[in-house]
Amino acid sequence: MKAEIVAIGTELLLGQIVNTNAQFLSRECAAIGVDVYLQTVVGDNEHRLLETFKLAASRADVVICTGGLGPTQDDLTKDVLAGFVGRELIIHEPSMTAITDMFQSRGIHMVESNRRQALMLADSDPLHNETGLAVGIAFTYEGTHFILLPGPPKEMKPMFSKYAVPWLQTKMTDEVPLYSKMLKFAGIGESNLEHQLLDLIAAQTDPTIAPYAKEGEVTIRITTRAQSAEEGEKKLQSTEEAIRSRLSEHLYANHDVPIEAVVVQLLAAKKLTLAVAESCTGGLLGDLITSIPGSSQPFLGGIICYTNALKHQLLSVPLEVLEGEGAPGAVSSETAVLLAEHISGKTGSDFGISITGVAGPSSSEGKPVGLVYIGFAQKNKPTQVIALQLSGNRESIKHRAAKSALYQLWK
Ligand code: ATP
Ligand code: MG
Repeated sequence: MKAEIVAIGTELLLGQIVNTNAQFLSRECAAIGVDVYLQTVVGDNEHRLLETFKLAASRADVVICTGGLGPTQDDLTKDVLAGFVGRELIIHEPSMTAITDMFQSRGIHMVESNRRQALMLADSDPLHNETGLAVGIAFTYEGTHFILLPGPPKEMKPMFSKYAVPWLQTKMTDEVPLYSKMLKFAGIGESNLEHQLLDLIAAQTDPTIAPYAKEGEVTIRITTRAQSAEEGEKKLQSTEEAIRSRLSEHLYANHDVPIEAVVVQLLAAKKLTLAVAESCTGGLLGDLITSIPGSSQPFLGGIICYTNALKHQLLSVPLEVLEGEGAPGAVSSETAVLLAEHISGKTGSDFGISITGVAGPSSSEGKPVGLVYIGFAQKNKPTQVIALQLSGNRESIKHRAAKSALYQLWK
C-alpha cells in the first residue's frame, strides 16, 4: 500500500514549526507495512489544498493528512476535502456533546466556530480524539483512503495509533501482514554495530535488519512478513537470537525504550540508590533519569560541578589534582574517581556516577574535544573509571556522555 503524508499549515512553510508529524507518521507507517512514497507540505490555502488533495488521490492508495481540523477560519481541511469528494459535512453527535460539555464544565461561552470541530464528512468513519476536541475522519473515495488527523502532535499520535491504524488495517486484508521488533543498544556506535552484523545485514531478505542511530543509542528494527502472528514472532525471534549472540553486552532491550528507563527500573527493583556529579553534561544525566516516572525512588539527586572551584568546594577534589603544573586536571581519571566517590559518600547512595570531559568546540587543559571520563563508585568496591573519545558537536558529546554513563550503570 502506497501512502502520501500531507502536512497542512502555513506555519510549516514559514519555518515556524518543524514537521514532526510527518516523521512520526512515516515511522509508524513503515512499522505496519505501509510504504510512504511522498511527504507533502501545503499552507492553509483553499486552492492549493484542493490541488494537493487531487494530486495525492491520483498517486497514493492512502492519503494521511494532519492539521487544519481546528475551529478557526484558517482550518480548511474538512471543507476543502468535502468539496473535492462531493460529500456534505455533518455533525458527529458524540463529539458535539463532548465539546458542549467541556465548555459548560469550564463555564466558558461556546462560540459557533467551536461546533466546526465536531464536523465530519457524510459516509465517513469518525476517529476518536482522546486528548482534544476535533474529531478525526477516515473514508474511502474512488479507491483512495483518506485519513484526517489534527495538527497538535499530542492529539495526532494517539488518534493515529489507536484508531487510524486499526481502520487502515481493515483495508489491507489482501496484504501479508508485517511484524516488527525493535532492539535497543547502548555503549556502541552505529558503524561498529553494523560492522559486527555486516554478513547478517548483507544476507538479509526476510526478516530485514535496519539499524539507525540517535544520540548515544542505536536501534535495530527487524521486520518480517508472515501469515500468522506466531510465524512472524518465530522469525523475529531467530533473527533476534543471531544478533544477541554477537552483541549481548550492548543489547539492553527488545522493545522501544530509552536506556534511562531500563536503568531506573533495575535500580528500583534492587532497591539501590544513585547520585550523580556532572561537569561537562551540565545536568543532562539527571534530566534523562528524572524524565522517567518513578525515578524518585532510586535517584537521590546530584551536583552540577561545572567549575574547578565547585569541584573543590562541594565535592572535595583537591586543588592539586585540578590545576597547576603537572596536575591531572579537571578532565582526568583522578578527578572522575574522586567526584564519583565523594558524591556517593556525601549522599549515602549505593552508586555514585561522575562525568567530566571536554564538550567543545575548543579543547581544554590541552585535552581534545570529546575526551570524557566517567567515574563509577560503588559501596565496598573499587571505583572504576572509563575514558571515552566521543565525536560530534557539543550537543551530541553531552548526550553521548550521559548515555554512556547510563550504559555503565546498566552493565
Ligand atoms: P487546532 O485545533 O489546535 O487549531 P488543527 O488540527 O487545526 O488544531 P493546526 O491549526 O494546523 O491544527 O495546528 C495546530 C498546532 O499543531 C500548530 O500550531 C503546531 O503546534 C502543531 N502542528 C501542526 N502541524 C504540525 C506538524 N506537521 N508537525 C508538528 N506539529 C504540528
Ligand atoms: Mg488550527
